This record gives sequence, structure tokens and C-alpha cells, in this order.
Amino acid sequence: MSHEIRTPLNGIIGMTGLLLDTPLNKEQNDFVETIRTSGDSLLTIINDILDFSKIEAGHLVLEQAPFRLDTCIEEVLDLLAPKASAKELELAYLINGEFPATLIGDVTRIRQILMNLVGNAVKFTPDGEVVVSVLGQMVAEKKYQLYFAVKDTGIGIPKDRMNRLFKSFSQVDASTTRRFGGTGLGLVISKHLCEIMGGSMWVDSQPGRGSTFHFSIQVGATEENLLPQKDLPNQYLGGKTVLIVDDNATNRFILMRQAKSWGMAPQ
Ligand code: ADP
Repeated sequence: MSHEIRTPLNGIIGMTGLLLDTPLNKEQNDFVETIRTSGDSLLTIINDILDFSKIEAGHLVLEQAPFRLDTCIEEVLDLLAPKASAKELELAYLINGEFPATLIGDVTRIRQILMNLVGNAVKFTPDGEVVVSVLGQMVAEKKYQLYFAVKDTGIGIPKDRMNRLFKSFSQVDASTTRRFGGTGLGLVISKHLCEIMGGSMWVDSQPGRGSTFHFSIQVGATEENLLPQKDLPNQYLGGKTVLIVDDNATNRFILMRQAKSWGMAPQ
């Protein structure tokens, strides 16, 4: 069914995209824009419901293929950068711990979880920053646990509403749908995906100060790829001093660490 439902909808969305590139008067342009945004919202809802029913039916099969974690995170941040930049939010990430550069798991599903959490963080943060951090550690031979935290400085979630977060079709505030859209399924699906991947998801939040969504998953590794995650000291950069200037403390910290991992002496 997934294919049968998505194909005609992709046809509609694709064609409105093409139509928008042709000469249209202002009114026609507005109409086509509306068709396109409605199509996009419908596709999101359909994807969520299809995923949700697949999980409920126990039919979700995970892929096991090699992937790079840094690339996966960067792809998510690249996609959300325009939205973050429009709100003048800082968007950054940090990887800690020693684990292979190439891991084995279902990168599409990991990306989906990150898209959901980072997308929410950007959506519910009027100003400040959104930072993704990952800590990796070995739990058994060729098995690693990855622990992620997506931290924002946004509106936060009241304590008495927290229990609604991971419930199907529920949002913290009924006015949310009107203001921000969404199905209230994103977190439910993400939490299930973490559990299927041998982990869990939880949250802590302070209203008015921000939220941190935490999740863990387990991934595999290939034998050939047991390189430490951090870069090796660079022969040209090693020992060189560097002054790091940025108005954001998180970015300074990330750049300090990166420069140190190359053997540089940053200040
Ligand atoms: P939706 O598709 O509606 O965003 P989610 O399951 O992803 O569904 O999120 C459910 C609700 O949880 C959101 O509508 C919002 O009320 C709340 N929420 C999620 N992430 C955050 C966040 N980072 N800050 C504040 N509220 C959040």
C-alpha cells in the first residue's frame, strides 16, 4: 500500500514544483504554492501513519548496512540549516568517545529519529541554539552503544504534560497543531525505532529554558574498520597555534576540540 499511496502524491507534488517554474500570474502562483504545501503536509502525515502501522503490526524490518555517523548527522543538519538560519539559531554537533568511523545499522531510521528531534528542537526554539551530541562506547565485541542528546534553548515542556509526549496522536498543547502543524506521531515512532534498535528514549525539560531529548541505540561494526573516531594528528597542523573566535560558546568548544584532535594548540 505504501507505494500505491505515495506514488500519485509524489506526482502531484512534483508537478506543482514544475508548474511553479512556468510563467504564472500572482494569483495562480499562490494557488499552486498552496497545493504544494498541502501536498507536502499530506505526504508527511501519510509517511507517519504508514510507519506507525508498520511498527504496530510488528512488520518493521531494519536494514544492516555500513554507514558513517558524522555524515548521517551532517545530512540532517544540512537539511534543517535553512530553517535554523531563518530564525538565527546556532546549529552544531559534537561526537565523543572512541568507536569505528564506519558502523553497521539502519542509517535511514537513525536519520529519521534525528530529523524528528532536531526538527522539533528548531521548531520549538525561538532563539538560542540546538546542539546534537553523541557519545559512543563499546558494549561487546563489534557492538557499540550510541547515546545521543538533542539539546535546545526553546520553549520547554511543562512537567504535567511530559507524559503526553510519547503517546500516539498527542501534542503537548492543542494549539500546537494550529501554530506548528504536525501529527503528534513523530516522537512515538522515534521512540519505537530506538527500542527496536536496542535502546530507549527519554526527555528532560524546563519550561522557558529548553529541552533535551536523549536516546540510545546499539549498532554493529565491521572488523576492518576499527579506527578511532577522532582524526589523527595532522602533520602540517600539528603544534601550530590557532586563535578561535566565535560569539557562541558551544561552537568555540567544538572548534577547540577539533583543533586539539589535529595536534594543534588552540586558544
Ligand atoms: P509533531 O509531529 O506534532 O511535532 P511529535 O511527536 O514530534 O509530533 O511531538 C509531539 C509534541 O511534543 C509537539 O507537538 C510539541 O508539543 C512537543 N515537543 C516535541 N519536541 C519539543 C521540543 N524540543 N520543545 C518543546 N516541545 C516539544
